[in-house]
Amino acid sequence: MNTLNKKEIKRLVKLGRAIAMDLGCDGNDTALPCRSCRFEAIKNMKEYLEINGYRFMDFERYETLMAEEVK
Ligand SMILES: [Zn+2]
Repeated sequence: MNTLNKKEIKRLVKLGRAIAMDLGCDGNDTALPCRSCRFEAIKNMKEYLEINGYRFMDFERYETLMAEEVK
């Protein structure tokens, strides 16, 4: 893995805070974040992991689920 540059570090801080906030959602009172917070967290986690060098092959799943959600 390459060293993170300043821009990436800044982005990770921002994404990390957003992820923590979304995962902390308890809108349905079930301790599981509500669906929209969960999907937002997933989207941000994907970017978070990508900045750290991970690559995804299965991201269409998220987009499919999001499309279904809109219907
Ligand atoms: Zn929520």
